[in-house]
Amino acid sequence: MTHLKPSAELAWEFSRFIMALFMRLPPSLRILSALGFSALSPVLAEPFLFSPVSEAPEWRLLDESQGKITREEFESRLTTVFDPGGALRPYLLWDDGGVTLFRDTARNHPLYRLTFASAGDVPSLPPLVLGDPARPLAGKVICLDPGHIGGDWADLEERSFRIGTDRPVVEGELNLRVCRILERKLEEAGATVVWTHAGQEPTTPLRPGDLYPEAITYLLQGAAGTRLPRLSANRLIRWNAELLFYRSAEIQARARRVNEELRPDLTLCIHFNAAPWPGGRVRLTSANRLVLFVHGSYTREELAYDDQKFRLLRKLLEGATPLELGISAAIADRFREGWGFPPENYADSGYSHATGQSPYVWYRNLIANRMFDGPVVFVEGPYMNDRDVYPWIQAGEYEGARRMAGRLRGNVYREYAELVAQGVTDFFRRQAESPSGFTNYSR
Ligand SMILES: [Zn+2]
Repeated sequence: MTHLKPSAELAWEFSRFIMALFMRLPPSLRILSALGFSALSPVLAEPFLFSPVSEAPEWRLLDESQGKITREEFESRLTTVFDPGGALRPYLLWDDGGVTLFRDTARNHPLYRLTFASAGDVPSLPPLVLGDPARPLAGKVICLDPGHIGGDWADLEERSFRIGTDRPVVEGELNLRVCRILERKLEEAGATVVWTHAGQEPTTPLRPGDLYPEAITYLLQGAAGTRLPRLSANRLIRWNAELLFYRSAEIQARARRVNEELRPDLTLCIHFNAAPWPGGRVRLTSANRLVLFVHGSYTREELAYDDQKFRLLRKLLEGATPLELGISAAIADRFREGWGFPPENYADSGYSHATGQSPYVWYRNLIANRMFDGPVVFVEGPYMNDRDVYPWIQAGEYEGARRMAGRLRGNVYREYAELVAQGVTDFFRRQAESPSGFTNYSR
């Protein structure tokens, strides 16, 4: 029970380290791999086409956005939110009336062409409806996505740790506790609450054992890469299959539920954060910061994949960013007032950039906020292995207030849930009172 990956590592898209696996293969597999390379050589001149376990993009889903966005607006969203580094630009070919997205930077294989609206031709927005400030979430369907699986899967997904004889800290269980309270708070404000999953069982019917072929396939496609755990090739394949299971397959299964059945007005991904172990040893550290993520900030490596390009376009055209920003900033305001922990800073991360909306709110491309349709707010709660937060988590769901993290506080699960619920409610109450006050992030 000593596994805990720092959040930053968790955010690695699978593509990055798959590429390094090849170097760890035993000679027999390397030969196989080399054969694979030569047989595939015409194909390998192109980058990987799909992320592991991903489904082929359904480009037709973008058709509903044809002719509905101007080039100016498209470019503004691209630059501000999704592609601040210009990594998608080499895949795009602009013409008079639209833009074509290509699989490759040589622009030989077109994937999709979007026609722009002309400036005077932008469809009018639906009429703004004043809501009920007393029940600001009435009529809203809010989906809760408690991060990770927990239970029997907590060790495998590397989201648990134990210090001495203390009770193990299992992130999946903490997230679930917060979400159960959050559900009640949101319902009190009028929302209908749905869940991506509400227990400690996987949503996907797949198990790591089902994913060995996928794991090996991606292993064989390996190339230059980054750091990997020091494991034998067999253990590396297993580790790979497990990662494909709890990250790719599990989140994709949740996304199918969200996108095809639940279709919520908002999805809240609820997490606790984790700092790297100091010196690699399991002991507490000082890392009491907070952060919320809004979808965006694709990297060059991610955009080599067709499915990532597809999701970028889908999210850009969906136009949920202003809502995600507004809700995230409202929760951040409550965090600052209620807890006062400082904001996390990702300025030098290379995979996240500031939104300018709140110092707590950053753009980032995470598998959950990428795969779920509709507005998604990804909340990272307090750091589980922070020296002030750890005793607060260990204290459980106590009644009343106790002295924790420097002042009298309610239990961490209730406070977390209340602050998130208040932030969401604040945002929709302001909307109900003054819908024209909607943030326009493109200006
Ligand atoms: Zn988490």
